[in-house]
Amino acid sequence: MKLLILAIDGLDWNYLNKIKWKLWEDLPHRGKIMPEPDTMLSLSLWTTMTTGVSKKEHGLCRRGWIKNPWILGSNFVEYKRLWDYLNCRSFIFSLVGTYPPHPLNGVMIGGVSYTFSDICSYPPEIWKDIQDKFNYLGFASFPNELKKDTEILDYILQKDKGIDLSLLKSPEKRKRYKENVLKSSKNGVEVVKYVAKEHGPFDFALIYLRAIDDILHITRDKSEVQEVHKLIFDSCEELINVFNPDDFLIVSDHGLITDEGLGWDILCHMHDMENGVWGSTYDFDLKDHFDVTPAILNYYGLDFKAERV
Ligand SMILES: [Zn+2]
Repeated sequence: MKLLILAIDGLDWNYLNKIKWKLWEDLPHRGKIMPEPDTMLSLSLWTTMTTGVSKKEHGLCRRGWIKNPWILGSNFVEYKRLWDYLNCRSFIFSLVGTYPPHPLNGVMIGGVSYTFSDICSYPPEIWKDIQDKFNYLGFASFPNELKKDTEILDYILQKDKGIDLSLLKSPEKRKRYKENVLKSSKNGVEVVKYVAKEHGPFDFALIYLRAIDDILHITRDKSEVQEVHKLIFDSCEELINVFNPDDFLIVSDHGLITDEGLGWDILCHMHDMENGVWGSTYDFDLKDHFDVTPAILNYYGLDFKAERV
């Protein structure tokens, strides 16, 4: 495979510099990556990165997301995605804003936000295979008992309610949430490995790992912060071995900073818009989120010109 992108929600520049992850330290090209100005929502940030156009143009977040972020999905994105321009087989896993999955040359498992249709994959028949083997429902934080049209459980953003503070206040709920996030993240990696083996080969893959953001929004505890980072770092190393790409790129949408002393005590960590990162075996020379799609296309020998869907 040519290029693997490990898209890690909330991976933070300062945290990486503090803990010295060997794989990261050994990368020849690394830096911070800046978001689109005045944007904090991951859905919008990742969509800008994978379309190459601003939120005004791609249109994903024109709707009132905080009231009901679950309605935001790929049908609102008005521009082609990075993989739509490539002339090779792609595998896109779980990225926010890719549900419902649209046809592509390859395989897509759609990511949040979605409304629990039975089909979260393209081609559709892969979905049943994955559910039978892995009991996998898509969004990392949702427990397995969730079924179509039921209330969304155990996620910090609750359907029609906004931020669910009871999750932080109830030790049992909090524990269950944390267990679900970690378990589903591991499960997701098994799904990726399976698809890579059974439905490959691919020449491009983008694998989205969201557990760091999910956990840091409910904790400031150092050992919990460490635990989820270790899980994601191990997953990255495992996936690099599985795909064995010519090059790989690790990229995040924002960093995370503890909100202690910042006067906003809701989410334990806040998105730190100045400390998102990229690191790669290839010099993509990324400065901001708008650079991502053109740089990847360039890597595949293509020029970028934004096209509407
Ligand atoms: Zn994010």
